[in-house]
Amino acid sequence: MPYPPPRPPAPNGPSYCPRCHEPVIWCVTVNQRAQMVDHEPNPDGNQAVRVDHTGRWLVRQLTHERPTPEGAEKLHMPHVATCPVPAPRPRPRLAIPRGRQGVRPHRWQR
Ligand SMILES: [Zn+2]
Repeated sequence: MPYPPPRPPAPNGPSYCPRCHEPVIWCVTVNQRAQMVDHEPNPDGNQAVRVDHTGRWLVRQLTHERPTPEGAEKLHMPHVATCPVPAPRPRPRLAIPRGRQGVRPHRWQR
């Protein structure tokens, strides 16, 4: 097959966190990325969640220009902030010693 198989679409709507299995809502951000928010609305949250006319769950972060939920938006907490099983941190890369290892010295270096 010349092309890799297509990735399954990101989940959208109420579901469960794949790490901690808590109920969450998968939403689409303004940048078309998938993001989990907690299932229960939280007035302390900073993510405004709404369902558009096609049934898609959308989320936007509150900003200085639009600091309050508008219309049917409800405030939720981002799930990454409350997930008890956080994503693993990327491993620090091993420092590769730089130097002249393996390089044959030239005549003037001997
Ligand atoms: Zn979780």
